[in-house]
Amino acid sequence: MDCPVCKNAMITLELEDVEIDHCTDCGGIWLDAGELELLLDNPQQAKKLLDSFKIDSRSAEKPRKCPICLKKMQKIIVSLSTPALLIDKCRKGDGLWFDKGELQNILNTAQLDEDNKIQKLLAGMFGHNQKNQN
Ligand SMILES: [Zn+2]
Ligand SMILES: [Zn+2]
Repeated sequence: MDCPVCKNAMITLELEDVEIDHCTDCGGIWLDAGELELLLDNPQQAKKLLDSFKIDSRSAEKPRKCPICLKKMQKIIVSLSTPALLIDKCRKGDGLWFDKGELQNILNTAQLDEDNKIQKLLAGMFGHNQKNQN
């Protein structure tokens, strides 16, 4: 799969038995449909997060193409995070794209990762440069 931002091939990482795709150039993360729920390991928290997604039809950000179906993705506002973040979502539901640090930011500020399990995994995986964001 190619990165929707820089078009380079992404690498697959295993996080808690969930395979995620990661671009080592821009630091973005692609989650296939359902992987966010698997990562959070808590259906209620996952629902809370997914329910906070709002389609941003007026976004000035350039649309990106889904790495699976290659169609333009929708901009989604994640209002649960502070400040609200803009992520990309495939209209057909293939998955979600997070720019560098966005997934960590959402998990942090929405308090979905209570014991910092995912934070620690991501920090260990991506190196020291992610730790400054806490
Ligand atoms: Zn990239
Ligand atoms: Zn797609």
